[in-house]
Amino acid sequence: MNPLRSLILAAAENDAIRRVVATTPGSRSVVDRFVAGETITDVVRVVRRLADDGLCSTLDYLGEDTHDKAQAERVVQAYLALLDRLHAEGLADHAEVSVKLSAAGQRLDHDLAVRNAHRICAAAEQCGTTVTLDMEDSSVTDDTLAALAELRRTWPWVGAVVQSYLRRTEADVADLATPDSRVRLCKGAYAEPPEVAFPDQHDVDLNYVRCANALLAGGAYAMFATHDPRLVAVLAERIRWYGRKRGSYEYQMLYGVRPDEQRRLAAEGETVRVYVPYGEQWYGYLMRRLAERPANLTFFLRSLVSR
Ligand code: FAD
Repeated sequence: MNPLRSLILAAAENDAIRRVVATTPGSRSVVDRFVAGETITDVVRVVRRLADDGLCSTLDYLGEDTHDKAQAERVVQAYLALLDRLHAEGLADHAEVSVKLSAAGQRLDHDLAVRNAHRICAAAEQCGTTVTLDMEDSSVTDDTLAALAELRRTWPWVGAVVQSYLRRTEADVADLATPDSRVRLCKGAYAEPPEVAFPDQHDVDLNYVRCANALLAGGAYAMFATHDPRLVAVLAERIRWYGRKRGSYEYQMLYGVRPDEQRRLAAEGETVRVYVPYGEQWYGYLMRRLAERPANLTFFLRSLVSR
């Protein structure tokens, strides 16, 4: 992995750096570019704006690695309140939620996290939308896929996420690529050792295409999460080759990243879903975005010193 990327991902775990970034006034403008705000009202405003542009959303209440039950409960309550509000505002057709099991208590107790996820799924079903389980670092891949299988027994529409940088992912996709199975395919955002993840970006991209083929061939509802223009072009060709109709797959991109491309695809009639994070715990998320793209880092550093 690129040393700069490793450094930023290490900073994502560092509490002292988090405090410095959180209290530096200039960091706000960078946060605002990638995060919808801190409250439900903020995120609802963004969902409505995106819907007006023909874009769907998946909403992430920021927070990961919950280490006590009370915090896990606060996360569940935040999702329940969010789903309630989406329903009340008539936005449930446009927005689903993305949930990190670690925020729901996964590192504390698998069963607790699954019970909490069930509660979020029940609320989502009631308001007519869906849930996708974000995929985190490789220490929880098995546990997350096991939780997914448990949840899908009751809620078959729960979305899975697979990461093409992991060597294991092609085999996971072979299991998940069944008709109507909702699967988000992304490259992967965490620092992983070479035994577990391809160190070379070219291999990550090749694996992305192999996994995309398997999802399209298997009849899954594929959710292609990437900003990579080369991959978007390859995907368009693969989708045509497999004779996939619009509405049987979608593109996904992050809030604040390539917004013009999001609108271009939507204007062509594609389903495009924007991943919209909100909440007070934006630090780890922001660091992963900066690690992905040196241009974002330059923008960030410049905004810190230009105050
Ligand atoms: P990259 O290799 O980062 O970039 C490829 C090319 O895309 C660049 O060369 C550039 O041309 C273009 N590009 C990228 N960023 C920008 C930018 N800011 N501005 C302009 N052009 C840009 N990761 C997980 O590990 N787990 C998850 O659950 C997860 N969920 C995700 C959900 C969504 C909807 C998305 C979009 C990503 C998610 N990710 C997740 C993150 C993902 O794994 C990647 O880290 C992230 O998407 C960057 O990869 P990329 O495919 O965009 O390609």
